[in-house]
Amino acid sequence: MPSRSVDVIVLGAGMVGVSAALALQARGAMVTLVDRHGEAADETSYGNAGLIQSEAVIPYTFPRDPAEIANAALNRDPRAHVRYGALPANAHALWRYFRFSTSAEVAETAKAMKPLVFGAAAEHQKLAEAAGAGAILRPTGWLQVWRTSAGEDDAHAEVEDLAPYGVQSRFLDRDGVMAMEPHLGEAARGALHFPDPLSTPDPQGLARAYAALFVARGGRFEKGDANTLEPAASGWMVTTEAGRVGARDVVIALGPWSNDLARALGLKLPFFVKRGYHRHYAPVGDGGLGRPVLDLEKGYVMAPMTLGLRLTSGAEFASADDPPSPAHIDRLEPFARELFPIGERREAKPWLGRRPCLPDMRPIVGPFPGKSGLWLDFGHQHLGLTLGPITGRLLAEMMTGETPFVDPAPFRAERFG
Ligand SMILES: Cc1cc2nc3c(=O)[nH]c(=O)nc-3n(C[C@H](O)[C@H](O)[C@H](O)COP(=O)(O)OP(=O)(O)OC[C@H]3O[C@@H](n4cnc5c(N)ncnc54)[C@H](O)[C@@H]3O)c2cc1C
Repeated sequence: MPSRSVDVIVLGAGMVGVSAALALQARGAMVTLVDRHGEAADETSYGNAGLIQSEAVIPYTFPRDPAEIANAALNRDPRAHVRYGALPANAHALWRYFRFSTSAEVAETAKAMKPLVFGAAAEHQKLAEAAGAGAILRPTGWLQVWRTSAGEDDAHAEVEDLAPYGVQSRFLDRDGVMAMEPHLGEAARGALHFPDPLSTPDPQGLARAYAALFVARGGRFEKGDANTLEPAASGWMVTTEAGRVGARDVVIALGPWSNDLARALGLKLPFFVKRGYHRHYAPVGDGGLGRPVLDLEKGYVMAPMTLGLRLTSGAEFASADDPPSPAHIDRLEPFARELFPIGERREAKPWLGRRPCLPDMRPIVGPFPGKSGLWLDFGHQHLGLTLGPITGRLLAEMMTGETPFVDPAPFRAERFG
């Protein structure tokens, strides 16, 4: 028997869970947020590149060109890294990712994601203002820098692909790049500038400010293990350090760990993770950055953070729990030193995170099939910082019987059969 009851328990206090808790609370629900850490955003929502990517309508795809696949598979393309030992366990999900990466499927996902991606910044701005965190949510936009004419061609192709969706961007020559980021090295020949995205120099601080807002508005944050979830007479029950808490509804928002619980409850999904690393560097002299910058041809982002200049790597294809390896980020560092004013490393070991992914690069937002009172909000892949607040709103609208602001069908778990 639970010793206390609330309306909803949200499992997981990353950006996604915190945002869902706030959206439910705003609709009148009594909510308890549960995380195995004593504070919010100690995992993936801490270590990202800090971009609210309001231009990212088109999903990150698996390559379809055989030469590109071969290059990546042989670890010759610095944009990705493959740990061969992990391939058998992930083969099914990756095969489905490959199959979902056709232009027709990508267009389908882009159509579904557009209202979420375009609405993401406004949802953040509302929360940041209410949380008094406006100073760490900045209208910086971001840059994708190219080194060669091949990179410039890629940037032009990207703009062409984005044009039907009305994404704002402009091309900068070397002088234009220097006017925005005077400390970039000579390797930066030009850039694509997306002016609308926001960025934060402290993604963890932002999520924690949202969590503090949730508590200030009467929500409870409890330390506990989501795996204690069990059915109870009037719904579900979780055991936390504060005792047993029951609720009619429970939201699974455990980021990369969501699939473990969903599977234990009987849901089979083609879930996988794209791991990513970060490391901070001291800026050289007065050299800093005004905004996150992607090295387009090498596939990493350098982002100005409170902790230093943060190099974040692209995707490492490995199992979630494989031991960390610095191989990928170490390979990127020499490229980064060509472009950015970075000095000594600030940590001996890089941070490792896991982007929670489904093959169609859409999150799952909606009911747990066949389990009354259980809800899913995970799989935000490369965009969980961006999409946390807006998917929280969508989920809360579904849970409280409001008309969802967007058709939720493309985000249901049932799409995987
Ligand atoms: C290198 C890198 C760069 C990225 N850059 C960006 C970016 O610039 N912009 C962007 O939008 N996205 C970015 N992302 C993606 C983004 O960080 C993730 O999509 C997002 O953080 C996922 O949030 P989440 O709340 O779902 O998961 P998490 O932040 O991982 O939160 C899950 C929570 O569940 C808790 N938990 C897990 N298991 C249990 C358990 N058994 N019991 C209780 N609690 C548990 C964890 O402690 C954690 O707090 C990046 C990711 C990486 C790796």
